[in-house]
Amino acid sequence: MQIRSGYAAAMFAALPVVTLAAALALLSRAHTPPLTAPSTIEHVVVISVDGLRPEMILPPRLAGLPNFARLLQGPHTLDARTDAQITVTMPNHVSMVTGRPMFGPYGHNWTYNDIVSAANAEITLHTNKGAYITSMFDVAHDAGISTSIAFNKTKFWLFEQSYGWVAGAPDTTPPDNGQAKIDVVLFAEHTNDISGAIADRLRRQTKRSLDFVHLGAPDIAGHSYDWNIEAGSRYCASVTEVDHGLGLILEAIDGDAELRGHTAIILTSDHGGGMPRKTHTDLSCPINFHIPFLVWLGDGVAPSDLLDLNPDRARLGRDEIGERDAQSQPIRNGDAANLALELLGLPPIPGSFYGFKSPLRLAPLPATARN
Ligand SMILES: [Zn+2]
Repeated sequence: MQIRSGYAAAMFAALPVVTLAAALALLSRAHTPPLTAPSTIEHVVVISVDGLRPEMILPPRLAGLPNFARLLQGPHTLDARTDAQITVTMPNHVSMVTGRPMFGPYGHNWTYNDIVSAANAEITLHTNKGAYITSMFDVAHDAGISTSIAFNKTKFWLFEQSYGWVAGAPDTTPPDNGQAKIDVVLFAEHTNDISGAIADRLRRQTKRSLDFVHLGAPDIAGHSYDWNIEAGSRYCASVTEVDHGLGLILEAIDGDAELRGHTAIILTSDHGGGMPRKTHTDLSCPINFHIPFLVWLGDGVAPSDLLDLNPDRARLGRDEIGERDAQSQPIRNGDAANLALELLGLPPIPGSFYGFKSPLRLAPLPATARN
């Protein structure tokens, strides 16, 4: 396990320069999004379960997954979608942290799915796009929130390369929280090491926090065997392993009065699977695009259909993936970024798309507003 901290690096951050952009940023922060989420949330954990088919967390399989069952006690949909044009890991995770689709007017343009080699350490999301791509880490960190990323695949170093102290944008609004937008970057090979580390981080947390957690076991099982949801499969075992990891995080929240009732979890995936067999790259197969999107706001919140709560979003048929530029989008994994910020009471990411103009609603509109 490796743990790196960006705090020390913040000492090297450039002195703030007052620019027109800074003035505009200040103005945008004065804009408060419509209150669609509980205001008591101090900590948000965004969890991506790599290659999680939504069918896995339906009965009868759900009976063996008590922690997934608990996360389903809140607004959710098992009918969410990946990016409209790609079903591999990195482009979809870039969507999750930037709120952008891969291509189009708002595109992040990152298509590469392998590790960026050490020889190309200067390559970032920004050099690839030709412009800085603001992430949820930027908005949160500039607001004084403690941020982290923990992951199961080494290619996620892309995020450290893009949002570390070298490539991260200066914080132009006082106080200067530094250029490194991610305070803690953690890699571990095993799901439970990652979940345990995040549980420990939550327990020790003294600030508001935003953690992004990648759990890769189902994808590894899928590629090694297949995406078989029948009882006893290696894929099912991998999802059980993730369930145990979720339990470690939930246990930390349950055991701490400062976390309990003040912590939200957003859980989604980068893709389903697996067509062709042992992978998930056939863009003509809707099964690769189908993912869950769960929002857990603590115990005592009734389960609800996220698509019912957001009638402006498309409820697609099982065989549909939704056009990239359609006016009414399904809920996509790219919604995680701005929803996380919304839960923390922060404005959406400048330049982003999903949930930018209209934040996701997590509670019904008041009756008067519906008429
Ligand atoms: Zn994969």
